[in-house]
Amino acid sequence: MAAIPPESPKSDSQGGPFWDIVGRYIGLLVFFILVKTSCSLYLYSVVFSAVGPTHRNLQYFLTTFTYFFGILSVWSYWRTHRELPSKIPDRYYFTGAEWRIIEALRYDHQALSEELAVMADARGIRTRTPDGLVNACNTCRVIKPERTHHCSVCRMCVIKMDHHCPWFGNCIHYHNFKYFLQALLYSTLGMTFMLLTAAIYLLVSDNGMKRMKAADGAVLGFVVLVLLSFCVGVPTGGFFVASFYHAMHNVTTLEDLKGTVYFADGAEESYNLGSCCLNLKQQLGPVFLAWLIPVNSTPGDGTQYLVRSDVDTAKSKRRKLTDKKAIDHTFSGTTS
Ligand SMILES: [Zn+2]
Ligand SMILES: [Zn+2]
Repeated sequence: MAAIPPESPKSDSQGGPFWDIVGRYIGLLVFFILVKTSCSLYLYSVVFSAVGPTHRNLQYFLTTFTYFFGILSVWSYWRTHRELPSKIPDRYYFTGAEWRIIEALRYDHQALSEELAVMADARGIRTRTPDGLVNACNTCRVIKPERTHHCSVCRMCVIKMDHHCPWFGNCIHYHNFKYFLQALLYSTLGMTFMLLTAAIYLLVSDNGMKRMKAADGAVLGFVVLVLLSFCVGVPTGGFFVASFYHAMHNVTTLEDLKGTVYFADGAEESYNLGSCCLNLKQQLGPVFLAWLIPVNSTPGDGTQYLVRSDVDTAKSKRRKLTDKKAIDHTFSGTTS
């Protein structure tokens, strides 16, 4: 039976389409200006003024790494910004018959929750609210897949929503979480690289500071670069550490705030599979090299997840199988 369409989108914000566009693109503009300004200041004040043409190889090395971090920062930021939340798969939308049942039972909460539980079970959804109710969205008219939340800014249900980030003008969700981590990582590494190399060179070289003072505006450019690095690099680094900590424990920002994940059978489960590597593979893909490059490697559609007890059960089954093989082997050894 065909799924019924969602309600026409309603804005929770007081702004109109103009402010929606401003909200979506202002972060993008600020980010590009910051990357361009900090790279230009570093190249002019440090690489071309302080280092100077006498150390040509060092200039090539510093310029290459500046562009390397700059390009990776912009590339991963762009992918985070552009990767909009994907549509919830059709099977999670209420059918016309189901919606009529929901409408009919609107004031009978007990009967409604029982009907919703049947609909959720039919779709293989195991999670519930802390009150034991089915996670459904009346606006989108879906039963939310596990780890899905309705974003009031995007005005839609978002698969594995982490949080809505105004700096990226987008939700951070299942399909762009890897790019988000990379954007934070490469921006922080870029800022750290520029600050560290500048500080080391100015400390160890005899005439680096003199050459910088001799170039027009180079000292002022360097001071602005240091201020920018602290103002941008420190919070960006902090966000990266917090987000990577979440990734290692396979928990979203929303789940971390809410605490436990509740299941239909009353169990309090966790998506933390007990191994940092396993947790990261679930979110970033199976190939380590792809964790570092802003290309798509996130597995699946983000609607189904393993929980800790799934992994524990699989491990105990494997252990039993190994024990059984060892016993069989022992017996076959003694009888032969
Ligand atoms: Zn929704
Ligand atoms: Zn959003």
